[in-house]
Order: sequence, then structure tokens, then C-alpha cells
Amino acid sequence: MINLVSDTVTRPTSGMLQAMLQAEVGDDVFGEDPTVNALEAKAAALFNKEAAVFCPSGTMTNQIAIKVHTQPLDEVICDEYSHVYQYEAGGYAFNSGVAINLLKGTHGKIDAGQIEVAIKPEFDWLPRTRLVVLENTCNKGGGSYYTLDEVRPISKLCWHYGLALHLDGARIFNALVETGEAPQAVGEQFDSISICLSKGLGAPVGSLLIGTGDFIRQARRFRKVMGGGMRQAGYLAAAGIYALDHQVERLKEDNERARKIGAVLAEMPYVSDVRPVKTNILIFDVKPPHTAASFLEQLAAYGIKASPFGPQTVRFVTHLDFTEKMMERVIGVLRGL
Ligand SMILES: *Cc1c(COP(=O)(O)O)cnc(C)c1O
Repeated sequence: MINLVSDTVTRPTSGMLQAMLQAEVGDDVFGEDPTVNALEAKAAALFNKEAAVFCPSGTMTNQIAIKVHTQPLDEVICDEYSHVYQYEAGGYAFNSGVAINLLKGTHGKIDAGQIEVAIKPEFDWLPRTRLVVLENTCNKGGGSYYTLDEVRPISKLCWHYGLALHLDGARIFNALVETGEAPQAVGEQFDSISICLSKGLGAPVGSLLIGTGDFIRQARRFRKVMGGGMRQAGYLAAAGIYALDHQVERLKEDNERARKIGAVLAEMPYVSDVRPVKTNILIFDVKPPHTAASFLEQLAAYGIKASPFGPQTVRFVTHLDFTEKMMERVIGVLRGL
């Protein structure tokens, strides 16, 4: 079985399991789990911020960020492909009572010019623009990424208009291994950052929300009210520490394998379009009479699993448990279809 459905399907490596078994733990609701505290301090330092809070999921870290940055009747600006809009069950409205202003970006990326036009003036009858969310890398945008040069004009604009800027950095390290940029430099551009440990980094569970001390103090209250206060969470935090220490650089391999498969797909007569392959997500369209469903059925016959992403659209995601040998097998199958 070769699973290209998502980079969330990975299992802990034996090194990670060892680290988890040896974790020193305590009750994190009382702030007494040394391994959770170490992970939070590590993540904050990595992005040159004051504090971080460990949460069960990236949905929770994004939702808490929106909650802390906004008041009801405020508005959040983001690309129409954003995870916070597409895949968090409308939580921005449910949890924070805010409106959303969707911009049509390029492969999930928006720019300062678009954002400036979208900022609403102050009138009683308009929602108050308060927060901008960028996603890096952008999942539905085919793993596209922002460079720091692209982010800087946006953070400057947000500062000028008094808007908060949040980074949904679920896969930020997939971008940073490509650009060579430092996480500290990313930290300077954003008010808050969410990172996922359970995607390409290969941990079983967990995300971190990172920001100022005051922001994270408020975030901890919302984590609790959302049911995210965990007890001996150090076993999970140990996996996160291990991932940050040992499994960041290797994300290059995932990106490279996605690129290689993308190059093969681009030559296949049954493929009409391959989105630019920037990191570990590969989105492409198959030509009729194929459909995404029929194509995936064909792949399944070879033991290869992936996701439909539209009537003609398919998504592959490469990850820690997708080896070079599996890549060769997938390429062989794709060439033979
Ligand atoms: C996976 C993901 C999240 C968080 O998802 P969870 O499954 O809740 O951890 C947030 N943003 C993006 C872009 C993601 O891909």
C-alpha cells in the first residue's frame, strides 16, 4: 500500500517512539509538564517570539488565533483557498462571530495591493476589518509558498492599518527548506504563527500557536474553553521536540519527490494540467474520459491511494513514510497507465 492521501498519515519513527517513552511528564493544565514547557519554549525561540502554547490540532491553533485577534462583528481577510475558510467547519463564525472576506489569489497567495483594496472603511454598517491570515505553504494552492520578500509588504500594510497578521504555517518548514530563510525572520513578520507537528514533521499529534507573552496568555484561556487543556501531554510534546530536532531538513526529500512525480505527470497524455510543484503537494487534472474518481480507482488497483480534489482534479502529498522506492513504483505505474 502506498498512501499519498496526506502527510498526516505518517507513523512515529523508532527514534521518535523512544523519545516519547522517555519523556518526563506532569500535569500540563497546571503548567507542570516539563516536556510540554520545553517544546513551547523551543518553538517560541525558533520563531523569535516570547511564548507558545501546545494544542491538539492546527484547527485549534488557528481558531484560537482568530479568537484572540478579533471581536464579534470584525472581519478576517484571507485567500479563498485558505484552510481557515475551507476546512475548519466555518469555525471563524461559530467561535469568534466574525465575517470573512475572501480574496482571489494566485495559487492561494494574496498580495498587499489586493488586501489594501479589501480593507473596509469605518462605518456602522460594515464589518470592521481586523485580521489578515496567510497560509504558508498553501494546501489548496498546490503547496505554493510565500517568500519573505512577498510577506514584508503585507506585514507593513497590516501594521499601517492596525490589522493583526496571522500565519497558518501548518507546513511552513516545507517552504523554509526550499527558500533557506530562517524561522526567526518569519517570526518578525507575523503577530502569531501556527505550526503543525503532525504533517510533514511526522509527529502523531499536535500543533503550536506562537506569539507574544500576552497573546499566548489569552490563547491558553481559549484552549481550555475549547477543551484543549491536556494533562500528561509531554509524551506528545516529546514527539514534537524530536521532530523539530531531527525531521525538518529531510522535508527537502518530500518536496523533491513531489517535483519528480510532477515532471512525469506533465508528460502524460491523460493529464491536462499540473499546478506548479513548489513543495510536497501535487495537484493535477486528468483529461476526460478520465475523472478523478476513475483515475483514483485505477491507481487503487496498483495499491496507490490519493485524494480527489475536484471532478477532474487529484491531489498527491509526499511525506516521511513515502520512500524513494515507493516513488519509483508510483512513477512506473503512472507511465504505464
Ligand atoms: C492540516 C492543516 C491545518 C490544521 O489541521 P488539523 O488537522 O486540525 O491539525 C491548518 N492549516 C493547514 C494549511 C493545514 O494543511
